Amino acid sequence: MKIKLYNTLTKSKDDFTPLNVNEVRMYSCGPTVYSFAHIGNFRAYIFMDTLRRVLQYNGYKMKHVMNITDVGHLESDADEGEDKMEKAARKENKDPYEIAKFYTDKFLEDMNKLHIETPEIIAKATDHIPEMLKFVQEIIANGYGYETSKGIYFDISKLDKYPVLSNRNVDEQIAGARVDVDPEKRNPYDFALWIKAPENHIMKWESPWGLSYPGWHIECSAMGRKYLGEQFDIHTGGVDHIPTHHENEIAQSKGACGKIPAKFWMHVEFLQVDGGKMSKSLGNVYTIDELKQKGIEPLAYKLFCFTAHYRTSLNFTFEGALSSQKTLNRLREGYLKHTQGNESIENSIIEEYKTRFLETINDDLNMPAAMGIVWEVVRNEKKSKQFAELLLEFDKVLGIDLENSKKYLDEQNKIDIPEEIQELLEKRKQARENKDWALSDSIRDELKQKGYIVKDTKEGMTVEKL
Ligand code: AMP
Ligand code: ZN
Repeated sequence: MKIKLYNTLTKSKDDFTPLNVNEVRMYSCGPTVYSFAHIGNFRAYIFMDTLRRVLQYNGYKMKHVMNITDVGHLESDADEGEDKMEKAARKENKDPYEIAKFYTDKFLEDMNKLHIETPEIIAKATDHIPEMLKFVQEIIANGYGYETSKGIYFDISKLDKYPVLSNRNVDEQIAGARVDVDPEKRNPYDFALWIKAPENHIMKWESPWGLSYPGWHIECSAMGRKYLGEQFDIHTGGVDHIPTHHENEIAQSKGACGKIPAKFWMHVEFLQVDGGKMSKSLGNVYTIDELKQKGIEPLAYKLFCFTAHYRTSLNFTFEGALSSQKTLNRLREGYLKHTQGNESIENSIIEEYKTRFLETINDDLNMPAAMGIVWEVVRNEKKSKQFAELLLEFDKVLGIDLENSKKYLDEQNKIDIPEEIQELLEKRKQARENKDWALSDSIRDELKQKGYIVKDTKEGMTVEKL
């Protein structure tokens, strides 16, 4: 069946077929590991996960690369400010590599909690300095790069067209002088490929231009080409990447190889908080752990993301996320009911659901509508194991671990039992093993006074809060 995906490059929903039969080569811009990833960042990775799951559901194999930016991402996308990694290292008084490892591990842990499939290749920028250096040298050799006292810059005037992804008018912005132009740059929108390191810079490497470090955009061009070739199928990122990072990646690839590296460029809209921007200064930047503390499971957050199409902005509120938690539990209960059902369902009905689901996800990942179909199956009055199986089939795309529904519900129903009560329960268990019924009864009374009811069942002792 046809897959249609919105392509920022053509500004239309285009038919998707991979360049290689059966295999999709995809590159996703990954995190800059100077701090905890927040739920906005994870909206981008949930989108990336859904995309790869949809492609796999259609029978394609994935060769998917995600980078980890551990050098070169400056505070401003306009090549200004400090390197984010170095700033964090100075603040935390640690080695930048230590900072990178800590936040990379935490990021991958959160990805697992969200059941985001790990891309086939995770590539760290600092492991690819020689590839990046070679890429820059090719750009210079082809006449697109030049040296200034600050580093090596890309000359955008040498391109047939710049920008190609966004509609921004470079000339107009120059006329408006909204950017502080470095007089050594040939064009105001020329960007850094390689940066000469000041004396106190920690992360720096030998290069033909002395001790220096890569600009942010070159890592994605070099690592994309290394693992996926000069041209591959899909490149993903957030909408913030359109005007600078992805535009400059395209420029670099055209400079070195004469090609736009990916056929499809796909971008996820931003997550907003309470209708506005998520920012540290407003104190509204939340992590997956912080949601958990407020009773919102990572998978409930994933479900929350499915309430909006990836190309529309989504407004986060705790109320909304808590409601997704309830929805998730109802979905689990509904699935479990089907696992116990004995009705027989005509094959044509199952097939019709499957076709509708596939049509919907293949229509540029229409997850809100796909969830509507999931609910039709969950709510079907006929309870059937065939429906349970169908839901597991759909879960290949949702990735919400429906198969383990019972485990999640049991965990939520478990009550927190204080240590003192645990000890009394253990004592009572001993008393019963010793057939000391008088002691067992008195402990039961004591527990009741403390607010806990014990019951003896065939399966053993159960405890409930009064
Ligand atoms: P960074 O770690 O800043 O390089 O960002 C990692 C990813 O998260 C990028 O793809 C960004 O586009 C994306 N991103 C950042 N903030 C948000 C947000 N509020 N909503 C959705 N995606 C975001
Ligand atoms: Zn990138």
